[in-house]
Amino acid sequence: MAALTATAPTERIHVFWHEGMLNHDSGHGVFDTGMDPGFLDVLEKHPENSDRIKNMVSILKRGPISPYISWVPGRPALLSELLSFHSPEYINELVEADRDGGKMLCTGTFLNPGSWDASLLAAGTTLSAMKHVLDGHGKFSYALVRPPGHHAQPTQADGYCFLNNAGLAVQLALNSGCARVAVVDIDVHYGNGTAEGFYRSDKVLTISLHMNHGSWGPSHPQTGSVDELGEGEGLGYNLNIPLPNGTGDQGYGHAMTELVVPSVGKFEPEMIVLVIGQDSSAFDPNGRQCLTMEGYKEIGRMVRGLVDRHCRGRLLIVQEGGYHVTYSAYCLHATLEGVLNLPVSLLSDPIAYYPEDKAFVVEVIKSIKKFQKDNVPFLIED
Ligand SMILES: [Zn+2]
Repeated sequence: MAALTATAPTERIHVFWHEGMLNHDSGHGVFDTGMDPGFLDVLEKHPENSDRIKNMVSILKRGPISPYISWVPGRPALLSELLSFHSPEYINELVEADRDGGKMLCTGTFLNPGSWDASLLAAGTTLSAMKHVLDGHGKFSYALVRPPGHHAQPTQADGYCFLNNAGLAVQLALNSGCARVAVVDIDVHYGNGTAEGFYRSDKVLTISLHMNHGSWGPSHPQTGSVDELGEGEGLGYNLNIPLPNGTGDQGYGHAMTELVVPSVGKFEPEMIVLVIGQDSSAFDPNGRQCLTMEGYKEIGRMVRGLVDRHCRGRLLIVQEGGYHVTYSAYCLHATLEGVLNLPVSLLSDPIAYYPEDKAFVVEVIKSIKKFQKDNVPFLIED
């Protein structure tokens, strides 16, 4: 502990949290179906359960990073605040679903008693975290929230998400005078909801690194492929980086260096929102990627470099997926260590490393880079 005292934290991450978000109960069943097939003695919790978040809270409270963390209470969003991103018809649908005692909004996405209040807390807490940075009270805010949000589109729920927490925060930044906001989404799934919300805007650069899972039905018509570039004024301001299954620390680092850092640099955002999901880890039940704590730490470090260069250090981090109850917390810890630029890791990786074949992802990234140079107006002139 002497080392910690010697380098008394001069920089802190403000973590916005409210325990009411634990009251969203997605139920039990086979994986995320909510169904009991009748032949299993043990039904697991839905992957998006409160245990995963309880461990994220406790590792930040009692783990070695705790001296670098300041806790700020979250708050529920007002219904009127939701209309900056979502349509009134969709919000009414959610309010009615809650009043009627719950509803399955799409596959795997259950609004149960308690879910709506938790959703309002997730949205409001993320808005408070963004406002904290915008008002200059701190440089780094982390909205530790659930239910997650990045699949929620302006008019529909998707993929365990009801309200787009990050999207609402981006809109708040724009409404507060930010000219350009960049979103870097490293959840293993395509941040389709956030992309959809800003698809026709050149004020928001949405970048998503995800596994190549494609569309998954009516709630998720987007494919996440490279040619979903945005439309109209927004053409070129949605950059999808679908990475082959098995991409790990080296592949993600390469994608960040080759694709994310240069495009964010050209865009020159005034604010960056890092959308994190630990479901890109090697041990996640919902993902097929191979990031380890070291890879998450490096991504945190690279994003820190970007905000230092372009945004006067201002960064909002928003929690999304991450379904391994233990490893997600460890990967979160590592990501925040990276954001803080800590020279020595505070926490070692508790589980083994899965091997990575970097050769394939290098080829994929090369072809994505060529595609973007040929098709993205603001990247063409080089
Ligand atoms: Zn995800």
